[in-house]
Amino acid sequence: MSWQLVVKQKFSAAHFLENYKGKCEKMHGHTFELEVFLRTSELDKSGISIDFGPVKDFLRGLVPDHKVLNEVYDFSPSAENLARYFFQRIKDTYPVVKVIVWESEDAGAAYAEDQ
Ligand SMILES: [Zn+2]
Repeated sequence: MSWQLVVKQKFSAAHFLENYKGKCEKMHGHTFELEVFLRTSELDKSGISIDFGPVKDFLRGLVPDHKVLNEVYDFSPSAENLARYFFQRIKDTYPVVKVIVWESEDAGAAYAEDQ
């Protein structure tokens, strides 16, 4: 028996893709959405597993809101690289199983590690 909790956090940021030829080599912005899946198999007496509040606070502190991502990170800030980066930052604190970074409503990259 297990559940997956899902928490989302939006952030606005600018980026460009390094070593890339095409539209996205030029600086542009997105309203990104970080979507995080946490796995849990136990509920407490109130019927919850992990309190959403602290998770939201943690994610709010993690996302680079109103930043130029190429200045913040030492990797090319594609949705794929961002998803892996966020996963690795979250996994020490929460039982994360999957992270999706949405660049728009209909395009994003998911990252998971083999269990
Ligand atoms: Zn982009």
